[in-house]
Amino acid sequence: MNILVINCGSSSVKYALFDEHETVLMQGKRERLSSDEGKSHRDALSEMIDELGAHQVDAIGHRVVHGGDEFRAPTLINNGVINAIDRWSAAAPMHNPYALMAINEAQVRFEGVPNVAVFDTAFHARMPRRASTYAIDHDIAQRYQIKRYGFHGISHEYAAGVAAGFLNCPVESLRLVTLHLGNGASACAVEYGRSAETSMGNTPLEGLVMGTRSGDVDAGVLMNLLQSGEYSLKTLNTLLNKSSGLLGLSGISNDLRDIEAAAADGHDRAQLAINVFAHRARKYVGAYAAAMGGLDAIVFTGGIGENSASMRERILQRLEFLGVQLDIDRNRRSEIRGDNQYAVISEPHSRVDVIVVKTNEERMIARKTLIAVSTPSIETAPTIPIAVSARHCHLTEETFAALFGEGAQPTMDKPLLQPGQYACKERVNLIGPRDRIDGVRVLGPLRSVDQVEIARTDEFRLGVDAPIRDSGKIDGSAPITLEGPAGTVKLKQGLICALRHIHMHPDDANQFGVADKDEVAVSVLGGERSLIFGDVRVRVKDSYMLEMHIDTDEANAAELGRGASGGLSVTDIDEDGCVKRLGEGQFKTQNKPA
Ligand code: ADP
Repeated sequence: MNILVINCGSSSVKYALFDEHETVLMQGKRERLSSDEGKSHRDALSEMIDELGAHQVDAIGHRVVHGGDEFRAPTLINNGVINAIDRWSAAAPMHNPYALMAINEAQVRFEGVPNVAVFDTAFHARMPRRASTYAIDHDIAQRYQIKRYGFHGISHEYAAGVAAGFLNCPVESLRLVTLHLGNGASACAVEYGRSAETSMGNTPLEGLVMGTRSGDVDAGVLMNLLQSGEYSLKTLNTLLNKSSGLLGLSGISNDLRDIEAAAADGHDRAQLAINVFAHRARKYVGAYAAAMGGLDAIVFTGGIGENSASMRERILQRLEFLGVQLDIDRNRRSEIRGDNQYAVISEPHSRVDVIVVKTNEERMIARKTLIAVSTPSIETAPTIPIAVSARHCHLTEETFAALFGEGAQPTMDKPLLQPGQYACKERVNLIGPRDRIDGVRVLGPLRSVDQVEIARTDEFRLGVDAPIRDSGKIDGSAPITLEGPAGTVKLKQGLICALRHIHMHPDDANQFGVADKDEVAVSVLGGERSLIFGDVRVRVKDSYMLEMHIDTDEANAAELGRGASGGLSVTDIDEDGCVKRLGEGQFKTQNKPA
């Protein structure tokens, strides 16, 4: 089994061919690629694929920088995954489009070979909300998807794994700080195997000092620069991303080797650059130890982390109080050894171990690709979109007229994903024996039977027993009184809790290997805790678009909507509309006969 790994960066393409034992069979690299002049990414990739010659390729792993919080595992690529990567392109314009190009090229050149997306953001996608949330207006944050995504996840996870191997302890019982210090740099708190905090944020600009990126800057500074009139968005972008960091501080270079040489000759700004870099990294180590409530090891990786003994020594100064005891000699020698390419540089009795790991993102991508293709699981399965239905009703012409007046017609507020269906501006009040619920949406178009769909928690509030039913099956369901501006209607039946269901086009059903009326289980990877919904009914029709519908109780239980696409709370839904598209669910083909 040979795995081809393709890593398409903004100006370079790297590839490596591995066998299933992670031995490199071939590798190559093309740099200084550009979309307007010289060699393009596509030419380079095509050349490299030619280079592979007669080598067999059984699976292809692609590094994808941004998958937002939609992907938390390597994922088999289908059209849905391609669309999702494309959606995140706006947030990673220098990376995702090239990954898509590579995926497309691979699909064309290796027909029938599975492609797997391995995301830099995936390792961080289950970060606790308290760590991923910025303390700005919550509605604005949700509207603009302003949250911490984190990057370098492949490297952090790899380094944590190698360190755990050395410590002879599962990563699930360790608290680690991993420092990926390269041209880009980030720190990660790896708490019991998961990313609990990381220094890169909504973009790769936040956090540590980097080669040319500033890392943390008071946002007030940016407003002041813009207000000065001397900076535009473009020049500000260049300032922060291209001419800050080690380069901006030192005025010499973005390469630490040059800066270390100049600092040794007494160059003041070079010395300052080194001090700022080390101080910032040390600060993050301390903060992350506090956030995790303890620390077992610090792991260095990336060009600087692997090679600069003096930088490591500076960063670790003053951390004795945490239990860090560096072995100065071992640090200076730091011979990276063995199959896993690491070196231990702390004293044998140091309470916190310090380990240098040679990063190997390609190897990690190959490993994850192999897992994704050989042991398909819920996590690696193709995704389906989930919509959360707030309580709503479908009305007959007669009921609509009684509630809204003779001759009134439903007015469309917004279309729903299912063709022809829409949320209306009209709302009705539900009056039960115990309590009432006001402002419930009417969905259009009008139907031949009245049907009111509520969530389980509404049932108790109204004081009725609403059965769980497939849409349309209302015989023997609960009575409810509807109140509209023009009158009230007492329905003898029609109140149900809708059975969770998935709308599918026949092509989707084919792809998932299910048929109309099948009951399946769906794993929803929403918030920090995933959840499997059983008893989900499949509904197949030519006019359906792929979409799963759950109610607000179910979405709350799955912590859906607290992630990417946002904003699920009962009040949000009441005010905003009936149906929201929130995150992605994942499908488990575990069908049983209806
Ligand atoms: P990228 O993030 O582009 O992959 P790398 O991980 O290769 O970058 O890291 C590049 C950085 O590593 C540069 O700042 C370089 O100066 C630094 N580096 C590499 N070797 C050494 C060394 N021997 N001493 C100090 N710094 C080094």
